[in-house]
Amino acid sequence: MLQDYLLEENLPHFWCAGCGSGIVLQSLLRNIDKQGWKREDTVVVTGIGCWGKADDYIKTNTFHGTHGRALAFSTGIKLANPDLHVFTLMGDGDGITIGGNHLIHAARRNIDLVAIMVNNLNYGMTGGQYSGTTPRDAITKTSPYGHIETGFDVCRVVQAAGGSFVARGTVYDVVQLNKLIEQAIAHKGFSFVEVISPCPTHFGRSNHMAAAVEMMRWIKEQTVPLARAASMSPQELEGKFVTGVFENSQREDYSTAYQRVVDRLKGEAG
Ligand code: SF4
Repeated sequence: MLQDYLLEENLPHFWCAGCGSGIVLQSLLRNIDKQGWKREDTVVVTGIGCWGKADDYIKTNTFHGTHGRALAFSTGIKLANPDLHVFTLMGDGDGITIGGNHLIHAARRNIDLVAIMVNNLNYGMTGGQYSGTTPRDAITKTSPYGHIETGFDVCRVVQAAGGSFVARGTVYDVVQLNKLIEQAIAHKGFSFVEVISPCPTHFGRSNHMAAAVEMMRWIKEQTVPLARAASMSPQELEGKFVTGVFENSQREDYSTAYQRVVDRLKGEAG
């Protein structure tokens, strides 16, 4: 049951009305619940930010780290005990902006964990500054005349870095989101799921979508399934959120490779 993994004594939650974080949390916990694992064999690691507060409501082992370093802590935990089921929860600030370096190296090493990056397109917790995924021309607290940078396509970054499962969903399509998280859990290796999620309080208010439903509608309208994207031009795809599974391949994960070396050395030592 979902309640087995929900720290109900910490409710009501911290998130604003209309925030997408709660939708991602329920999808994650329902999927963890389905695995039949012992609670103490699961570790949820978070960084800083609105989505990083999720560990306040999760009844497994949890570790709340410093900004941008969630994947560094997760890597250490997985290497120390490869039998643990490790989940890393990051926002776009944590995952690809401050923590971008950890993201590409965790993908390159193929650390066997599930990383869920909730992308709300700005730094929500600190008041709505632009992040590494803020779209061009968007208004934020630090781009009041329109953002002049282009946001990362994070899935392409992770795929290029070597992530062996890479997918994007949105909180608008919860059925797809559930499936993507299910596939990420089943995959052996670095499993990355980006979730496009509304921040009506900051991104929405600054961009004429102050009502939560307006941001949700905008996300729906900007979303293009991967199969349809294949027949669209780069110009048509500008600013769109392409959803689906971009990578699902098998490659030896880091802990397995490490153990193989340990076993070989033990064998050579006789
Ligand atoms: S500031 Fe934005 S991301 Fe943070 S809880 Fe509020 S709506 Fe959600």
